[in-house]
Amino acid sequence: RLYNEVIELKGNIRVFCRCRPLNPNEISTGSSSVIEFESSLDNELQVICSDSSKKQFKFDHVFRPEDNQEAVFAQTKPIVTSVLDGFNVCIFAYGQTGTGKTFTMEGTPENRGVNYRTLEELFQISKDRGGFMRYELCVSMLEVYNEKIRDLLVDSTNQPTKKLEIKQVAEGTIDVPGLVEARVYGFEEMWELLKSGSRARSVGSTSANELSSRSHCLLRVTVKGENLINGQRTRSQLWLVDLAGSERVGRIDVEGERLKESQFINKSLSALGDVISSLASKTAHIPYRNSKLTHMLQSSLGGDCKTLMFVQISPSASDLGETLCSLNFASRVR
Ligand code: ADP
Ligand code: MG
Repeated sequence: RLYNEVIELKGNIRVFCRCRPLNPNEISTGSSSVIEFESSLDNELQVICSDSSKKQFKFDHVFRPEDNQEAVFAQTKPIVTSVLDGFNVCIFAYGQTGTGKTFTMEGTPENRGVNYRTLEELFQISKDRGGFMRYELCVSMLEVYNEKIRDLLVDSTNQPTKKLEIKQVAEGTIDVPGLVEARVYGFEEMWELLKSGSRARSVGSTSANELSSRSHCLLRVTVKGENLINGQRTRSQLWLVDLAGSERVGRIDVEGERLKESQFINKSLSALGDVISSLASKTAHIPYRNSKLTHMLQSSLGGDCKTLMFVQISPSASDLGETLCSLNFASRVR
């Protein structure tokens, strides 16, 4: 519990910045990185944009392009595993499309991301604690696209005819009645289930990549714990969220469906920024209800819940405008 106490002292909201490497295309066209990294005196890392502005941003942690998935998980693990101690936890990946949100959260089979490592760890710890704790794990997976909720653990032909809505199910508890909550007994079984959820994500879209950048993908792990020695029970939730791309789309370039999409994305991402910055500044009224995303996460954001935001950025000069927007967003929530 030592690490959790350290987190509490520093507050319950963390912001990590992760910069991806230059990609082969950027390298072949001779792009160089416009992002510099520096350790400040108070041991926090800074990102400096090496354009004329030389603007500096501080984070709880900064991952450089050469930092691998293990390094990222080492910093994330104490936060995600605190769900087994009864804390509600939310992790978000925020940033422009192509900056590595999905790489950080999902990863690839060769470079497993936060989701895989977290779930593996949760099963391992619950096994290790088997002598004095009994845990029950359930998973749900859903997508929010144009402010509509889609259950990814139900195949598209069997989607409920009734629309999924967010409801207050008990005092202070928000839920989505009807959403599949699959009880899982082992890691392999669960991973197979989540893979089918990922595949369901792209159904009905012309290009999987296109849609995934326009929708929020949420994985929820519900943990029920029972202390076998004193009978104490806990119920907590962990949300792992791969957000829609934060890039602004020029009004001239888009119309119709695409414009509507981007308006919904702007609305939900700015609602998320408003909620987290209200929590950080301890404002009395937290505007959860302004988007489906924040409303759904209401019981897991604020109070003694732990929140971690990964702000994903590109090192490339051509992305500097979007990078500055993301860094500014991050400094607002910190
Ligand atoms: P996003 O989900 O934000 O749109 P992706 O996760 O799809 O971005 O990343 C875009 C591409 O960059 C992918 O090919 C991904 O594998 C690669 N990539 C992103 N971050 C890293 C990283 N830290 N190291 C290596 N490759 C990365
Ligand atoms: Mg993605």
